[in-house]
Amino acid sequence: MNIPLVDLKAQYQSIKDDVLDSISRIFDGMHLLLGEHTQAFEREFAAFCGTRFGVGVGSGTDALHLALRAVGVQPGDEVMTVSHTFIATVEPILYCGATPIFVEIDPATALMDVAQVEARITNKTRAIVPVHLYGQMVEMAPLMEIADRHGLPVVEDASQAHGAVYRGQRAGSIGRGGCFSFYFSKNLGAYGEAGMVVTNDEAIATRVRMLRNHGQEVRYTHTVLGYNARIDEIQSAVLRIKLARLEAWNALRRQHATEYTRRLAGSAVIPITESAEAAHVYHLYVIRSARRDALRTWLDARGVATGIHYPIPVHRQPMYRERAGDVSLPVTEWMAGEILSLPMFPELQPEQIAYICECLAAFPHA
Ligand SMILES: *Cc1c(COP(=O)(O)O)cnc(C)c1O
Repeated sequence: MNIPLVDLKAQYQSIKDDVLDSISRIFDGMHLLLGEHTQAFEREFAAFCGTRFGVGVGSGTDALHLALRAVGVQPGDEVMTVSHTFIATVEPILYCGATPIFVEIDPATALMDVAQVEARITNKTRAIVPVHLYGQMVEMAPLMEIADRHGLPVVEDASQAHGAVYRGQRAGSIGRGGCFSFYFSKNLGAYGEAGMVVTNDEAIATRVRMLRNHGQEVRYTHTVLGYNARIDEIQSAVLRIKLARLEAWNALRRQHATEYTRRLAGSAVIPITESAEAAHVYHLYVIRSARRDALRTWLDARGVATGIHYPIPVHRQPMYRERAGDVSLPVTEWMAGEILSLPMFPELQPEQIAYICECLAAFPHA
């Protein structure tokens, strides 16, 4: 067997006719930016998240950057987040000239340990960026309680959590702003680059809308220093087609995760814990192993592709090392050495999961 980490081809076959038809109409009309599909997708995705507004942008990185600017992050400010994440959570904090303050993660879920947030708040703290990593939401109730008490805006990095739910609320809808990436391999992925900021705050939506389009409110009147950070019509059209199927795809991911977890129960590999409070959408199915690198080689030799999300925490990255000083995050560092992502995509077959789990069971774990 040869099982990829992610397979996008099968999904494309299932929507190919709709996609090609929609793109062909866009080409006929040659309205390529900020047109009918972008407006409709913004409405539809905001409704999906349960927010009043959605503003399409060029990527998840743009979404975080513009949302942080919109909540007023300035040079010299501190923004609290985690180091166990993709680099794009942190780059936008640095673009704003702010300093990331890394909170430790909970070893069970690999998510921000909310109990450690309040002790790290200073008079420079300007925002908190929880990351709903792997498809599971951070403990938002206690986090919002702390943030509200200190008057701090929360900007959710929901780039891996399209459709995840925490106590009845969708990812992206709880903080002041929710930021999504539609990078092609995400649960909702474009066929190019795209992102979105969702919010219930009209002022935030207006500011992000201005910032994404050269700071314009009115054409050729540049009110603020903006960016070229727009979503395009082709990506919006593709994403509309895919959004209609997202819940079904997420349900399949959850089903596969349940099957993995059932088969791995009692074995030497430990799946990341699924919290009872949050409906996980399994962007990634992640396990831990003390012999991770040997296990990875073992699986690779048996045709099972795996990934590591992520092998080097942000505070240990070459680009960050000089700024990091003496930052020490023992749980984050230990986690990076043990995690392994198994194949996960909606079209994964039960016999593939069975085979992967057989390979895992045959590995000499001790
Ligand atoms: C994918 C991702 C991003 C950035 O998204 P891009 O669209 O690639 O810019 C940000 N944060 C996390 C956690 C991600 O997984």
